[in-house]
Amino acid sequence: MNSNKIIRHKVVRHKRKIKTIGVLTSGGDAPGMNAAIRAVVRAGIYYGCRVIGIYKGYAGLLEGHFEEFNLSSVANIIQRGGTIIKSSRCPEFHKKSYRKQAHQNLVSHGIDALVAIGGDGTFRGAHLLWTETGFPVAGVPGTIDNDCWGTDITIGFDSAINTGLRAIDQIRDTAGSHDRLFIVEVMGRNSGYIAMDVGIGGGADSIIIPEDPSSVKNIAAQIQRGVNRGKTSSIIVCAEGPVQGKSYAIANELKKKYGYKARVCILGHTQRGGSPTARDRKVASIMGAMAVRELLGGYSDFMTGIDGLRPQLVSLIKATEGKKTLHQDLILLGKILAT
Ligand code: ADP
Repeated sequence: MNSNKIIRHKVVRHKRKIKTIGVLTSGGDAPGMNAAIRAVVRAGIYYGCRVIGIYKGYAGLLEGHFEEFNLSSVANIIQRGGTIIKSSRCPEFHKKSYRKQAHQNLVSHGIDALVAIGGDGTFRGAHLLWTETGFPVAGVPGTIDNDCWGTDITIGFDSAINTGLRAIDQIRDTAGSHDRLFIVEVMGRNSGYIAMDVGIGGGADSIIIPEDPSSVKNIAAQIQRGVNRGKTSSIIVCAEGPVQGKSYAIANELKKKYGYKARVCILGHTQRGGSPTARDRKVASIMGAMAVRELLGGYSDFMTGIDGLRPQLVSLIKATEGKKTLHQDLILLGKILAT
């Protein structure tokens, strides 16, 4: 993250002269989105552009809900969670006719390029806008899930895991006082990134993730190993998976089949909120400014990413289609440390 040399992986170019940039946040919100908006606005103005905030993601793009931002518009927001320009899910954007309308709105407002801050759904929409109209687009990965291919870290992930850790530390106090077993359910539909980091950082006794499904039998055996060496309380961290509340089914089975009484704590949307961590603010600032610079440098249809210490660009389609996988050695580490 300290190097200025950007690696560009098969990123395409546009030919447009960019004087005005639009910025929106879309899909699930994430702590640090405001820092990214601020970076887009401040970098855009620094490089001599006008910057237009588009409210409520693609829905605001269709409604023409636009506002020109100046340096002061983004003052005092870097520390705030959520997104000052709001976010939404916009089913209409899946249809080509609506994307054509969105393009017309952008052009009629004098906007020459778009920075879309969001997750893979947001990038799919931006990619289609580019391929169908040639309108320059950049994606900035703002999602707590950290599941975007092409970047080690997404904006909001670090804040979300720290929120999860605080919760675990607090639950550990009460679990210890009452000799209780807790299952703490964290976000993570298709990936265990949040659960893995919260589990390792929180010293969990078991980490349940989609990448390494563990049977309740194994979880029970793990608990029993702890009991055998005198442990009186345990914390299990579980990624929610496709449907929130999976932990209740595990708790029921633990009780019915193995006689362990587990209490469930679902962290849910608390992980999306709160003031972003220093790391998220820095990552968001780097990526927001990088998106502007690269659009002005003639690149389009890319997502900003960070690979190790290196900033990089990857194509939006690769960012959405590539499968980012949890390192096996991290999964193993979680098991080794839990024994
Ligand atoms: P995220 O960006 O966090 O993954 P979503 O998957 O909800 O969140 O996507 C955000 C928005 O992006 C959707 O509401 C929709 O407007 C747009 N979008 C998602 N997928 C597509 C797609 N395949 N084609 C066009 N637009 C899409």
